[in-house]
Amino acid sequence: MSTRAPGIHSAIPTAIFELKGVTVRYGALAALQDVSLRIEAGERVALIGPSGAGKSTLLGVLNGSVAPTGGEVRLLGRDVARLSARALRQVQRQIGTVYQQFNLTPNLSVIHNVNAGHLGRWSLAKAAFSLVIPLERETAARALENVGIADKLYERTSHLSGGQQQRVAIARVLVQDPVAILADEPISSIDPERSREIMTLLRELCDRLNKTLVVSLHALEYAYSHCDRIIGLREGRVLFDLPVGQVTPAMVETLYRIRA
Ligand code: ADP
Repeated sequence: MSTRAPGIHSAIPTAIFELKGVTVRYGALAALQDVSLRIEAGERVALIGPSGAGKSTLLGVLNGSVAPTGGEVRLLGRDVARLSARALRQVQRQIGTVYQQFNLTPNLSVIHNVNAGHLGRWSLAKAAFSLVIPLERETAARALENVGIADKLYERTSHLSGGQQQRVAIARVLVQDPVAILADEPISSIDPERSREIMTLLRELCDRLNKTLVVSLHALEYAYSHCDRIIGLREGRVLFDLPVGQVTPAMVETLYRIRA
């Protein structure tokens, strides 16, 4: 199997993400403590753990938006501590993130929100022009088709349901065409019936388009059904990091156990 991500120089290691002894501190609080992990191209990884365990912080480290206070972070083989701001942005362009609250601009039409996926590449002038006359209609239309809402191109985003808005957010990431997709609680703001559809969509797109997926989840059933590996976080530490089939109910119980 080729595990090399597209566009990455062949001399670099194959891991998409590699963390060694990573700590993230906010004052006295350690949101992450001594986290080491390696995620290869093509993996489907679930992050689980109680609220405050550090899942969002870890996703922030993986997309380069949260700088570690200790340890080493390699994104697409590049040591973030050694990257210029410009080089870091280039790496970040290859890592797309989908958020619980969608992070869309509700007053704009869907095509504008989808086109925001180009912003890392477009000049300011092109981006500004596109706000008046949307560019790249075909690309946006294709992305919307991929997420099952081809007919919503010119709809006002705020008129869509939660599930449809999450599809727009996923279409925006597809336009960005990243190597990896990170999803931070992507179904927490969506009704349960639509949740399965969104998880299935994410999984299928990553399979079909050959992208690595890391997703934080409250709903454990989707970690089991849609991912291959589960990382259990508690109080900023990795409690377990195993293939789905090796995660036992006892491990999950320990992960969520309320401290006496
Ligand atoms: P989770 O996603 O598992 O709920 P988070 O990564 O959001 O956990 O948070 C881990 C811990 O770090 C929590 O105690 C949270 O309050 C704290 N934290 C997260 N971000 C910040 C921040 N920007 N400033 C201060 N504390 C933060």
